[in-house]
Amino acid sequence: MTSIESKRVQYRKYLERAGVIDALSKALIKLYEEQNKPEDAIRFVRKFMCESCPDDAQYDVMKNDLEEAKTHISKLEQELERLRGQIKKSPEEYQELTVEGYKSLIDDEENVNSLLRKYLTPELLEEYMLVTTPAPVDAYLYDCAVAGFQHHDKPVGIYAADADSYDVFNKLFDPIIKDYHGQMDNESDVLQKDPDFGNVDEIENLDPERKYILSARIRLARNIEGLPFFPKLTEKQFIEVEEKVRSATETMDGELIGSYLTMADIDAETQAEMVKRHILFQRGDEQLTTAGCYRFWPTGRGVYHNPAETFLIWVNRQDHVHIMSMAQCGDLGDVYNRLVNGLSELEKTLTFARHPRYGNLTACPTNLGTSLRASVHVRLPLLSKDPDRLLALAEELQLQVRSTDGGELSTVEDGVMDISNKRKLGFTEFELVKTLQDGVVALINAEEELEIAGQEG
Ligand code: ADP
Ligand code: MG
Repeated sequence: MTSIESKRVQYRKYLERAGVIDALSKALIKLYEEQNKPEDAIRFVRKFMCESCPDDAQYDVMKNDLEEAKTHISKLEQELERLRGQIKKSPEEYQELTVEGYKSLIDDEENVNSLLRKYLTPELLEEYMLVTTPAPVDAYLYDCAVAGFQHHDKPVGIYAADADSYDVFNKLFDPIIKDYHGQMDNESDVLQKDPDFGNVDEIENLDPERKYILSARIRLARNIEGLPFFPKLTEKQFIEVEEKVRSATETMDGELIGSYLTMADIDAETQAEMVKRHILFQRGDEQLTTAGCYRFWPTGRGVYHNPAETFLIWVNRQDHVHIMSMAQCGDLGDVYNRLVNGLSELEKTLTFARHPRYGNLTACPTNLGTSLRASVHVRLPLLSKDPDRLLALAEELQLQVRSTDGGELSTVEDGVMDISNKRKLGFTEFELVKTLQDGVVALINAEEELEIAGQEG
């Protein structure tokens, strides 16, 4: 193509894109359709074209209308979601959905690794399909497994819809729990012993010189006894959880004193900024959406925190509450002490669901037991250059390594990682925090050795 031709083509494309061709064609068609052809054809065309475009005032009105319509649509969508959440499915509908969901899961030959797929046999499906947990929750197997039926690539694929789900569907949950938590040969009736926070004074500042650790955090998940878990919480119950937690926090003392913010009152910009500072949560992934975690959002969601942002409670993120203690340094002892105090304050007013075999009950079976995740954000630039060694070390120390945004280790920036206890069930709270303490100290020592080797070599 010559350059003239190509310029012509480009110009033509531009005229089309800008709507000029369309507007001119319409004017010409209008003139063609006119019975009494005007003397001044140019004036006719000009008038027609001006008629069809709004002036500034009209444009403003239209822009306003559009904004209003968008707001209205989003309200309607929320309302629709609310109403959908109220529709009760008949047993026949549950049966049909369960059979369909199971079929799609086992027919998928590419994603075969979920624990749901591994342990939900056709016989169990048949046995459990029409069974429900006690009224008024009436959770079906489908309510627990829907996320796994739809998202075949997820490692587990099941949530408990209420505390009873763990017993009513026990032949499915129990092997999944034992498989996930590495308790395959454990024949004991009790997988999680009574809570034991041990001697808090044995947990220390792991990095007094502030050389490696940017922050430390310990969180616990809890669900209020007698209320269903997120897959079956009603709109009223989301609010009930929030009210109960709000009033339980009113008696907090000393450094735990703070205030509660409901999500609906935090504007989008502030939310984003708080998420970035690790003190607020947002909606999670598709799997949780399918499981029903974000029904009625933002109703009943919120955060309690003290002014220093070192003690926080997230309400209805997934479990009813996530209780967190944090510090912008490596003082794990300080963090642990505050967490234990905060929990015992809450327990004065709230009773949390516990299971004789599994300990603290959480919706996701991976959090059962202590539900405790103690973590540090730590900078280990030399170690992180050798991921194989790092991961082998972490494995040995019973630690889990992630990137600080929850992603894969490959996205680690500046050698900063999130290192936490790997196990949650089968050990006491104290043992798990001590594991993190010992492990992080060992990793920092390994980093220091590499520093020295670098200086010498
Ligand atoms: P959890 O399941 O323990 O709540 P997530 O990976 O979902 O953990 O993290 C929740 C939030 O907490 C994220 O913003 C994450 O960056 C933050 N977080 C986790 N550990 C730490 C830590 N040691 N220091 C600071 N922020 C942290
Ligand atoms: Mg949390």
